[in-house]
Amino acid sequence: MAGDTKLGPERGGGSPLAERVALVTGGSRGIGCAIAVRLAGLGASVSICGRDEGALASTLRELKSQGVRAQAHRADVTRNEDIADLVSTTESYLGPVSVLVNNAGIGIFGPVQERTEKDWDAVLSTNLKSVFLVSQAVIPGMIRRGGGDIVNISSLAGRNAFAGGAIYCASKWGLQGLTACMAEDLRQLNIRVSSVLPGSVATDFGRRAKDASKALAPEDVAHAVAMLLTQRAQSFISEVQLRPLQKP
Ligand code: NDP
Repeated sequence: MAGDTKLGPERGGGSPLAERVALVTGGSRGIGCAIAVRLAGLGASVSICGRDEGALASTLRELKSQGVRAQAHRADVTRNEDIADLVSTTESYLGPVSVLVNNAGIGIFGPVQERTEKDWDAVLSTNLKSVFLVSQAVIPGMIRRGGGDIVNISSLAGRNAFAGGAIYCASKWGLQGLTACMAEDLRQLNIRVSSVLPGSVATDFGRRAKDASKALAPEDVAHAVAMLLTQRAQSFISEVQLRPLQKP
């Protein structure tokens, strides 16, 4: 936990997250999968969720092959009843969640005049409202236990505007505001709330063709999350912006 001075790199050894339970939303594939695998590699017990059971099963096998305790749950993070089940099942089997990575997200792109209310609701529910709902489900436990970490996977689209990005940018700009205010609400309670803002990452996201050689890899985002979770207890990196070195 952020407030636990035993955690962080100063604790030494190769498993700095050994006593922690991490919940990674959208951990079944893409960036979330890379984060889940990285946290397992640092010794955390890991719970992942998504809607596709095949992808969940395959990532769960990969996590368990690292010798950590892991679980996969079919859960839609836009549905409060799924979230309640997700958190209670995770905590019954793995223990209290002290790391939450709000990663699940979707992208729907196109000129604002061509997009629909359905598109708006899908993107805003998945990318923004879910962060509010899942965080609310774990924060009371973190407060009771004296600390925790919440990392929100935002985007450089949460800072920048581009044609065709109206709905997606609205969700990520909103997420930046939510993250910053949550951080202020919770820092005195030893809960760090931070965001990672990647540029283009080579995944299936938004079904957009990408030149993988010029994009970030999912593991680059996982590296940033690992850095946030292994900083010294009194240190608070609140935001990480992450770009490919060579412009795509
Ligand atoms: P992917 O499409 O590869 O993976 C998205 C993950 O989220 C999947 O595990 C998916 O599982 C899950 N997910 C989506 N909707 C829901 C839902 N309603 N409930 C539960 N799980 C859900 O995307 P990326 O890995 O690329 O993106 C992950 C995050 O990174 C997103 O928040 C995205 O905005 C952000 N990002 C991505 C960038 C990129 O270029 N790829 C750049 C910057 C930020 P399933 O579909 O089975 O539910």
